[in-house]
Amino acid sequence: MAAHFPLKLIDSRMLASDVRHLVFQRSDGEVLNYIPGQFLQIHFEVNGAPSKRSYSLANPPVLNDSSHSVEIAVSYVKGGAATALLSELEVGGEITSSGPYGRFCLMEADKNTRYLLIGTGTGITPYRAMLPKLAELMQSRNVQVALIQGARTQAELLYSDEFQAFAALHPNFRYYACTSREAAGSDIGNRAGHVQSVFAELNLDGAQDIAYLCGNPNMVDESFTQLKEAGFPVPGVRREKYISSK
Ligand SMILES: Cc1cc2nc3c(=O)[nH]c(=O)nc-3n(C[C@H](O)[C@H](O)[C@H](O)COP(=O)(O)OP(=O)(O)OC[C@H]3O[C@@H](n4cnc5c(N)ncnc54)[C@H](O)[C@@H]3O)c2cc1C
Repeated sequence: MAAHFPLKLIDSRMLASDVRHLVFQRSDGEVLNYIPGQFLQIHFEVNGAPSKRSYSLANPPVLNDSSHSVEIAVSYVKGGAATALLSELEVGGEITSSGPYGRFCLMEADKNTRYLLIGTGTGITPYRAMLPKLAELMQSRNVQVALIQGARTQAELLYSDEFQAFAALHPNFRYYACTSREAAGSDIGNRAGHVQSVFAELNLDGAQDIAYLCGNPNMVDESFTQLKEAGFPVPGVRREKYISSK
């Protein structure tokens, strides 16, 4: 069994009406090292039986620093067990966690000329954790990055001010914000429709691009199919589906 450790809530804020940003610190004094794109699991009991759920780490790592805090964004699911726990947790409260897990990460061996980072809802958080690493890669090998975020409404475009600010600083970084149930905002890169509606304007190139898909399983499946049809080899599309792991 993976080692469990305690996380104490030190801060939180609402990102949207039903999405909470939570900031934790390990309360056992140990270090939590991770790679951007990885996730944690939280462990709890439902009617006396052990249960767990996964949450992507939403902030960049600071290696070997036990005071480093870790952030997650939790989208509330009606009647959800982890939702009940994480929506009611108060500052100072503790949860049990394990990890990090996962390989939804930028790979050192990648030789692509562009990353397409596509996420809906809280599925955008791994890319927030990747921003400093992306800045490094844009500098060191001139890679291009297109971040394509999807939400129902503009108010649900999580962390969009941070992505806009990052795009303003980095000419190689293009930021698209898509709203499926509301007209597009007025900023450059705002689009009405699903994330896939941006594909037509990206000059997709399966030989040079590597795509990442994260969040809603239907979005991941539909985008994967479209990218394969556009000539992407399967290893050129990396996927993280947010499914409940009861
Ligand atoms: C690798 C990975 C990373 C993840 N990262 C995140 C993250 O960063 N943020 C985040 O919010 N979630 C994330 N998830 C999803 C998360 O683990 C939980 O599944 C989610 O929070 C629901 O848990 P719950 O206990 O509240 O609901 P549950 O008790 O699991 O479900 C309650 C009911 O709602 C249904 N349901 C479950 N999920 C959804 C949904 N998304 N939409 C509609 N109905 C649903 C269930 O089928 C069930 O009927 C991730 C999942 C995986 C596999």
